[in-house]
Amino acid sequence: MRLIDMNSKISILIGILILIGIVTWFSFQIEKVTPPKITTSIELEKGENPEITLISVYDNYQIDPELKTAWGFATIIKTPKELILFDTGGDSEILLFNMEKLGINPKSINKVVISHIHGDHVGGLEGFLEENSNVTVFIPSSFPNSFRDMITSHGAKFVDVSDPRKISDFVYTTGELYGPPKEQSLIINSKRGLITVTCCAHPGIVNIVKEVKKLTNRNEIYLVVGGFHHPPISYVKELRELGVKKVAPSHCTGDLVREEFAKEYKEDFIEYGVGKIIEIK
Ligand SMILES: [Zn+2]
Ligand SMILES: [Zn+2]
Repeated sequence: MRLIDMNSKISILIGILILIGIVTWFSFQIEKVTPPKITTSIELEKGENPEITLISVYDNYQIDPELKTAWGFATIIKTPKELILFDTGGDSEILLFNMEKLGINPKSINKVVISHIHGDHVGGLEGFLEENSNVTVFIPSSFPNSFRDMITSHGAKFVDVSDPRKISDFVYTTGELYGPPKEQSLIINSKRGLITVTCCAHPGIVNIVKEVKKLTNRNEIYLVVGGFHHPPISYVKELRELGVKKVAPSHCTGDLVREEFAKEYKEDFIEYGVGKIIEIK
């Protein structure tokens, strides 16, 4: 009887010691995890800034009547080094049709950046990956795992983006900015100055422009292209005051605001939509 009592006491003691051991080990592991680094600036590459070409391959606004339009956004950024597809529109058939008409082979693209989770920006990705899976897809880190699985199941690679970072030579992302949903915009340091491509601008076009200026420590942005997300009319003047030299608003900007931009910016307003090619040299 006494022996059994003794044995169970020893077992309990061993149990407690193991538990203390596990708790200590875990707290040690937690301490070892360093807090996430918050990047608040982008170091722009030194050297001669390149010529850049922007090609609209998907938009609800139309420039080239030979191409198909649909609600959504996709633009190709052509640098001396590579072709980057920024968003994929809502439908891969339309995306691939437009690319073919423009003489762009999907296989010539090696990076894809996705701005945010909405269908009119991500919908064309799966069909695109079926044509070319030899790409790296840069997605906001807030995306669900099912999205990563879709990318890897086609044999493509993905990179999670949360902080600002370099995407390619002279091309950077703002990192995830809060909308909702979370969204990333691109910054390109071109021969004429900084270009910002905003796909849907859920975080607010003015907020994005201010963030780009802060991240790059620059006072001027040469060109802002993309969806401006129905901004108030007052933002037209505000962008001017913020040092935005040229604008090419499309997708979700809204007709009235777009007209206001055309009036205010005059020769610095670029009509953007599917088929438009902007060469910055
Ligand atoms: Zn959206
Ligand atoms: Zn959109």
